[in-house]
Amino acid sequence: MSNSRFKAVEEATKHIFAAKTNVTAERAVNIYGKNVFTILKMREYLPKTVYKELTSFIDEGKQITRDMAEYIAQAMKAWAIENGTTHYTHWFQPLTGSTAEKHDSFFEPDSDGSAIEKFTADALVQQEPDASSFPNGGIRNTFEARGYTAWDPSSPAFIFETSAGKTLCIPTVFVSYTGESLDYKAPLLKAIASIDKAATEVAQYFDKSVTKVNASLGIEQEYFLVDLALYNARPDLQLTGRTLFGHMSAKGQQLEDHYFGAIPERVLAYMVDLENEALKLGIPLKTRHNEVAPSQFECAPMFEEINLAIDHNQLLMNVMEQVALRHNFKVLLHEKPYSGVNGSGKHNNWSLITNTGVNLLSPGKTPKNNLMFLTFFVNTIKAVFEHADLLRASIASHSNDHRLGANEAPPAIISIFLGSQLDEILEEVESARVAKKVKSEANLWHGIPKIPDLKLDNTDRNRTSPFAFTGNKFEFRAVGSSANSALPMTVLNAIVATQLIEFKTEVDKQIKKGTKKDLAILNVVRKYIKDSKAIRFEGNGYSEEWEIEAAARGLSNIKSTPKSLDVYVTPESLELFEALGIYTKRESEARHEILLENFFKKLQIEARVIGEVVTSQIAPACLTYQNELIQNVKGLKDLGLPKESYSSQLNYLERISKHVNTILEKAEEMRQARKKANTIDDVREKAIAYDEVVKPFFDEIRYHVNKLEKLVDDAKWPLPKLRELLFIH
Ligand code: ADP
Ligand code: MG
Repeated sequence: MSNSRFKAVEEATKHIFAAKTNVTAERAVNIYGKNVFTILKMREYLPKTVYKELTSFIDEGKQITRDMAEYIAQAMKAWAIENGTTHYTHWFQPLTGSTAEKHDSFFEPDSDGSAIEKFTADALVQQEPDASSFPNGGIRNTFEARGYTAWDPSSPAFIFETSAGKTLCIPTVFVSYTGESLDYKAPLLKAIASIDKAATEVAQYFDKSVTKVNASLGIEQEYFLVDLALYNARPDLQLTGRTLFGHMSAKGQQLEDHYFGAIPERVLAYMVDLENEALKLGIPLKTRHNEVAPSQFECAPMFEEINLAIDHNQLLMNVMEQVALRHNFKVLLHEKPYSGVNGSGKHNNWSLITNTGVNLLSPGKTPKNNLMFLTFFVNTIKAVFEHADLLRASIASHSNDHRLGANEAPPAIISIFLGSQLDEILEEVESARVAKKVKSEANLWHGIPKIPDLKLDNTDRNRTSPFAFTGNKFEFRAVGSSANSALPMTVLNAIVATQLIEFKTEVDKQIKKGTKKDLAILNVVRKYIKDSKAIRFEGNGYSEEWEIEAAARGLSNIKSTPKSLDVYVTPESLELFEALGIYTKRESEARHEILLENFFKKLQIEARVIGEVVTSQIAPACLTYQNELIQNVKGLKDLGLPKESYSSQLNYLERISKHVNTILEKAEEMRQARKKANTIDDVREKAIAYDEVVKPFFDEIRYHVNKLEKLVDDAKWPLPKLRELLFIH
């Protein structure tokens, strides 16, 4: 047996025995932030006066001056070189979805022929990668091809370590020369500023000492591990991140024996190694466990300020891939690597926390705090209700399409789960005859039910909701595992900011008319509860009944990416983003185009891989086996045996021929469909053609290939089977 599949299985088995299970967990207190240029390290490397000035600047949120940047650059260089780095790079998040870097050496030749190490404020603050081939949606014509990266001082520089050396990485935004953003971070920072401003103004109704509101985020990251040798024997996994063929293994997740099960030793070694590396980079990983599907796992950090949390998640994905290779694993971040078992998400746990340390989404103990909680809670619900389509678009991708609405992950319908306690409280607030009761400020509070201590058990247990309240935060669960959370979080913060601004306008109007402040707030909150009712759903989001009910409620259910993206360029959305200064019209349009382009290109690649694997690997294996069967039948016939005695073989032969013929025929039809789609100029039309005309071939071809997988001699099957991919680790 010489086929590549068996070699891969053999290799994978060796990997298990050779696994480096001697990795030991380091104590976090010893390594946490070791590779980060933290504020503490700045103190060590900066002159005292400069350090003092810098901290006061940070506290007041002021912009760092050029002089200060020069000091910081020198301090950063000294720290980085002392720690063995030779190169530095601006680290940014272009719209390709991954992170990008362009390394420069600290080295510079001196005029006397010797070498010096140099790093200046200029190099810290701005860099010009020749970045004309990053997606830009037509923003940068080639004649103005230059884009530049600019330092984001709110996310600390760090040293990225590989066996080939160490690099100082400086988090940056990436913008075009004409000032338009070309990345995920710049709009996110603008959305963060918007929510800060809007939430602070509303929080001041309750507490004048609130001067800043930070959005915080904790990202749970799901992923699959697969043995490297098996991965390399699957062109589909290599090129698309998911299996395009493969009959489901007889045993999958039905016994529910993997979820929270004991972690296999080789996998645990990987996790520990990953945690050690992550902690050094200041990523506060805390949780690890098995997920629902075989070979599916999850890790989660402690929540952080949102910009940092997102940088950390982007970095974490890189580290996950890097560390996996040391253990002969490949990490699969694709939302749906295997059909037939669960896919992977990236739950975004989001809340708003004031500079005074109050979580605005945490129910308070006093009536006043309760009103504050209700205000932010209900405004978030209303924002999601009003802008559900934007939120839906923010998580749309070719890969997440396999999860959303596929009956095993949050549906494409956006709804909110509150848990019965809070659901009832909102009912109560809504129906209480507050206005009549309230004659004086003192008894206003009768209108607000006391919110009992929430037990987590009473919330968070509906795993089918795309957007759930979980005690003191909202959890956006529909985000895909491979996504950059910056996009959904830009949208979430933008829509909540917009809603809070509207809220404040309405409340102020009532106050102006003479209504007492707290009553005015309560009035608007109650109105919002009524208005946004349709978005609240406590039942099973995976059920068919919900689809029907949601339609009756008027909620959208847009299952495919290209159409869900339309909302980015409606007049309302353009205005919303422009009003907050997050995207200009041109930026929104460019992003829309990039997302569509990315969508059809990904499908194009999948289609090509399917065509190639079908004709060059699967069909040949089937034909070889078919010939053996033909020989067999011929032999039996030659012996003079009656036809009945080999009717099963004949039937077998017939079935194989039928399926092989179908896959070859369909692969050719798909190729024609692809050729036709490629001639379409309009990018939206093209994406839709790929989605609606080319993509349906995938499942059809897969169906017949899977049938063949079960019919053809196991020894001849060329691709590692799902049972091997899922269970050898
Ligand atoms: P689950 O029950 O969903 O598995 P946890 O309660 O452990 O999850 O929390 C999941 C994530 O939510 C973690 O990253 C955690 O740090 C984060 N989290 C907890 N509180 C907050 C908060 N107030 N704001 C944002 N994220 C939070
Ligand atoms: Mg969770």
